[in-house]
Amino acid sequence: MSQTRILVTGGAGFIGSHYVRTLLGPLGPDDVTVTVLDAFTYAANLANLDPVADSDRYRLVVGDICDAGLADRLMAEHDQVVHFAAESHVDRSLASATEFVRSNVLGTQTLLDAALRNGVGRFVHISTDEVYGSIAAGSCSEEQPLHPNSPYAASKASSDLIALAYHRSHGLDVRVTRCSNNYGHHQFPEKIIPLFVTRLLAGKKVPLYGDGLNVRDWLHVDDHIRAVELVRTQGRAGEVYNVGGGTELDNRGLTGLLLEACGADWDSVEYVTDRKGHDRRYSVDWRKAHVELGYKPQTDFAEGLAETVAWYRDNPGVWGRAVRPDPAAGAEAC
Ligand code: NAD
Repeated sequence: MSQTRILVTGGAGFIGSHYVRTLLGPLGPDDVTVTVLDAFTYAANLANLDPVADSDRYRLVVGDICDAGLADRLMAEHDQVVHFAAESHVDRSLASATEFVRSNVLGTQTLLDAALRNGVGRFVHISTDEVYGSIAAGSCSEEQPLHPNSPYAASKASSDLIALAYHRSHGLDVRVTRCSNNYGHHQFPEKIIPLFVTRLLAGKKVPLYGDGLNVRDWLHVDDHIRAVELVRTQGRAGEVYNVGGGTELDNRGLTGLLLEACGADWDSVEYVTDRKGHDRRYSVDWRKAHVELGYKPQTDFAEGLAETVAWYRDNPGVWGRAVRPDPAAGAEAC
C-alpha cells in the first residue's frame, strides 16, 4: 500500500499531539506515515507522544520551523504538511511579540517556501478565529475581513494570509482552518481551562480577567482534529474553513462550571485587571465546513469538560513536568 508521508509541525503541543495520536491510533487511516517537527518550546511535552512512540509509522525531528535547510530536507521527504507549530498564548504575546513574529510569521513563510521548492502536494495551515477580531453579535464567515487585535492574533493573521498568498501566487495547494477555542487533555496549563483546573485541584485561587464577560466558543480538540482531517482529505485548495464547537460561554459561566467540577466555590476566584485589548467575543460561522465536508462537532460540552478535569486530576505526572526529548534515545536532533 502506498503511504502518504505527512509532516506535522508542532506535533508535541496540545492540538498537534492529539492529531498525531489520532492519525496513528486504532481508528486512524493506515496509509499514512507521520513525522513530527517540533522545537520543544515550553508548551511541548514528549509525553504527549508516548502512545505513538513505538509506531513504525512515526518519526520525531527536534528542530525549528524557521530553519530553512531543515525545512528543505524534510519537505523533500514528505507529500503533505499539517502546520500547527506556533507560539499560541495571547498573554505571552503582550509581554513580548518577538517570538510570535519569528515562529508564526517567518516560520510559516519558511515552511511554505520549502514546500513550494520541493513539490509538496498539500499544506494545511491551522489558523484561529482570533484573526477576525471581536464580533458583538452574529458569527464571522470565511469572507469576513481580518481584524486581529492582539500581537498573537496579528501574527496568526499574517501567517494565514501568507499561506493563502502561496496558493494564489504560486498555485501551492494550501488549505486554511480557522477554529475557535480548543479544550481537552494534554494542554499546557496556561490557558483558562487547564490553568483554572490545575490550580483549583491544588486548592489555589484562580484569576478571572475584568468583568469575566468575554465570550468564547468552545471546541473539543477531538472535534477539531476531525475537522482538520476532513479539510486535509476532502477540502479544496485555496479555501478557508471555519471550525466551531457550538458551545458559547462567557468566562464567568465557564468559571462556574470549572469550580463545580473541581469541588470549589467563588471564594477561589480573584478578579484581576483585564487583559490589554481583551477581545469581547469571538464567533465563527462553520456552515461551509458542514455543507462541504459534513463537519459537525460531536462532543457534548459537559462530558468533554468532565473528561478533561478527570484527566488533569489523574495525570499530574504528565502535565506537571514536561519531558524533553533525549536525542540519544531515538529522536533526531537537528
Ligand atoms: P501549543 O502551544 O500547545 O503547541 C505549539 C507547538 O508548536 C509546541 O509543541 C511548540 O514546541 C511548537 N513550536 C512553537 N514554535 C516552534 C518553532 N519555531 N519551531 C517548531 N516548533 C515550534 O499550541 P496549540 O494550542 O496546540 O495550538 C496549535 C495551533 O492551533 C497553533 O497554530 C495555534 O495558533 C492554533 N490554535 C489554537 C487554539 C487553541 O485553543 N489552543 C485555537 C485556535 C487556533
